Amino acid sequence: HQAQRVQHEKLAGIGRLAAGVAHEINNPLGVILGYVRLLQRRAEGTLAEDLRVVEEEAVRCQDIVEGLLDLSRPGRGPVAPVALREACEEVVARLRESALLGPVTVEVHGEGVAWAQPSRLRQVLLNLVKNAAEAAGEGGRVEVRLDVDGVRGARVAVSDSGPGMTAEARARLFEPFFTTRPTGTGLGLAVSQAIAEAHGGRIDVDVGPLGGARFTLSLPAPSREQEAAA
Ligand code: ADP
Repeated sequence: HQAQRVQHEKLAGIGRLAAGVAHEINNPLGVILGYVRLLQRRAEGTLAEDLRVVEEEAVRCQDIVEGLLDLSRPGRGPVAPVALREACEEVVARLRESALLGPVTVEVHGEGVAWAQPSRLRQVLLNLVKNAAEAAGEGGRVEVRLDVDGVRGARVAVSDSGPGMTAEARARLFEPFFTTRPTGTGLGLAVSQAIAEAHGGRIDVDVGPLGGARFTLSLPAPSREQEAAA
């Protein structure tokens, strides 16, 4: 719990800093990207290649800034009943369209409704499924299991057939900037956990049924009245 408190303080500190700095960086970064894209249209050959690298790295900066802003405000906004099955299928379709899923089989089983901010919840689902697909790798499998009950609320368990993780990685997964991927930002799970907690929920990790990791997101389910009123 000491470690958890330190983690919370670290997040809060980063949040305050991020809120100030990220806004300042966002505008010049937008200008840089605008100009790079303009130049790319006029460039050819190796110059075009070099500009593509500049663009990629600027987009990466944007992702980091966005992640920092998300950490600083994980949860404010209207909550509603979210049908988990539809939300998961949408997220999978979006990842497929943007070719982020690769040659990985994704199955969604079960049903459930969560009481959450729809766009934030989708963001968490996207992070978990994307991570699982990356871990599973070519020819791998990802399985999403949904369920809901009156006591524990709504749950989304994302399992993959990947290699799982080392004890060190497991201890540090939710730390901001912890990553083992060459192009990772290490913000995906930190942001996801912050969002889950802002909803009164959480994310747990263990070894899943496919041999790799299983990330289980728990969220409140809507009460009958909340569901009826929506
Ligand atoms: P990023 O994806 O940018 O690295 P995340 O916060 O989403 O940032 O993940 C942090 C790290 O957690 C990853 O670099 C990886 O080492 C580990 N991780 C996340 N999901 C899985 C998974 N399904 N299987 C194994 N390791 C994982």
